[in-house]
Amino acid sequence: MNAAVEKTEKSARGALLHDNLGINESGHLTIAGADTVELAKQYGTPLMVMDEARIRRNMRIYRTAMERSFGKGSYPLYASKAFSCKYIYRIAKEEGMGVDVVSSGELYTAVNAGFDASNAFLHGNNKTDADIVYAIECGIGHIVVDNMVELDRIDEIAGARGVVQPILLRLTPGIDPHTHAAITTGKVDSKFGIAIETGQADDAVAYTLGKQNVRLDGFHCHIGSQIFDVTPFCDAARLMIKYIVSAREKFGYEADILNLGGGFGVRYIESQPELDYADFIERIAGFIRAEVKNSGIKMPRVLMEPGRSIVADSCLTLYTVGGTKVIPGFKSYVSIDGGMPDNPRYALYESDYTVKLASRMRDGDDFVCTVAGRCCESGDLIQENVPIPTPRRGDILAVLVTGAYNYSMASNYNRIPRPAVAAVSENGSVHTVIRRETFDDLVHLDV
Ligand SMILES: *Cc1c(COP(=O)(O)O)cnc(C)c1O
Repeated sequence: MNAAVEKTEKSARGALLHDNLGINESGHLTIAGADTVELAKQYGTPLMVMDEARIRRNMRIYRTAMERSFGKGSYPLYASKAFSCKYIYRIAKEEGMGVDVVSSGELYTAVNAGFDASNAFLHGNNKTDADIVYAIECGIGHIVVDNMVELDRIDEIAGARGVVQPILLRLTPGIDPHTHAAITTGKVDSKFGIAIETGQADDAVAYTLGKQNVRLDGFHCHIGSQIFDVTPFCDAARLMIKYIVSAREKFGYEADILNLGGGFGVRYIESQPELDYADFIERIAGFIRAEVKNSGIKMPRVLMEPGRSIVADSCLTLYTVGGTKVIPGFKSYVSIDGGMPDNPRYALYESDYTVKLASRMRDGDDFVCTVAGRCCESGDLIQENVPIPTPRRGDILAVLVTGAYNYSMASNYNRIPRPAVAAVSENGSVHTVIRRETFDDLVHLDV
């Protein structure tokens, strides 16, 4: 390969965001070495393709870094709302991850996949009685309590079964990490958790310590998602440690667990950085060690709940191009055979995505267009102002970095079957992880 070609190859790969993506000799996009155009032919589209080695790598980065930086007993929980299916819970189990679940449905899926409920944490701002009963009967490790109405029910339900249920209290430290408003959760004015600032956290701790059938193991916070800066995490940690100190002074209660939630950013577009999560964890740990030392409390076990940064960059979505529409003086559109039913994130948050014409990666990007889904909804777009080669009907279009909050948010709007999910395993073989929905599946619940 001569220097000029090598340079072009390198910048083309750079534009592919992550090193598990590439271009093969046919000019096709590859993921984990697998030809995406071949996979689209084999499985049909829309198709989500996951790189299993990448998922495992991401989990190992967190596990290793957390134990090294925070010490033994500190570990990551995979926030499974990012992508929840039996396959991912099996991998989480094999990789020694805890998980967090936000509903009985997620817990059921985990348990059904052989995941031990004692390594799971149950979240949610409105756990129903049925959720609480099911979780306790499964032997859930911890329930992260959102409010005192819920705590009363947990105490009663555990008591009726002769169980002392370990819990954490979810607190809002009052942090706004300046991401999109809909994915910011750590502010005082939030539907999640109990505010420190208003004094309600103190009331909650006092109330909880008076309960017979729950055991308070510590505190939880989660400040938001897609955060690229370590500062908001250190700010949250500082406020939480300050709170641990004050709870010790006021109630003689010392927290064993500090759960800092999830939220590390992922590179979706070229202008975003690819974060070094191990380095982030060490920087937060260094900060926490110093704060703990100054305050005289014992070092808590630290938990984190990465979701997006475990699965997002392990996956891409493949579509078949249908029509192309050029509206002179306005925009151009390319329509695909999926859209908001498999990826509602642009419609919800105007999320960034990188789009590639997977079947012709070496052709010039001469067509700037809006990628439109097939639903009867003007807002059904995947991305706007995307440069790709002028697409032809039948080309394969890829949307990169779709592993998190895509399939898990999928719907059947317009009675469009949800896509298949395939995984490239570490030995390069490909297998189905979730089969494509059929028309029979669509009418399955209709009476
Ligand atoms: C969504 C969520 C997470 C995961 O956030 P990511 O940004 O995907 O890492 C973790 N903890 C809680 C409580 C959440 O709601």
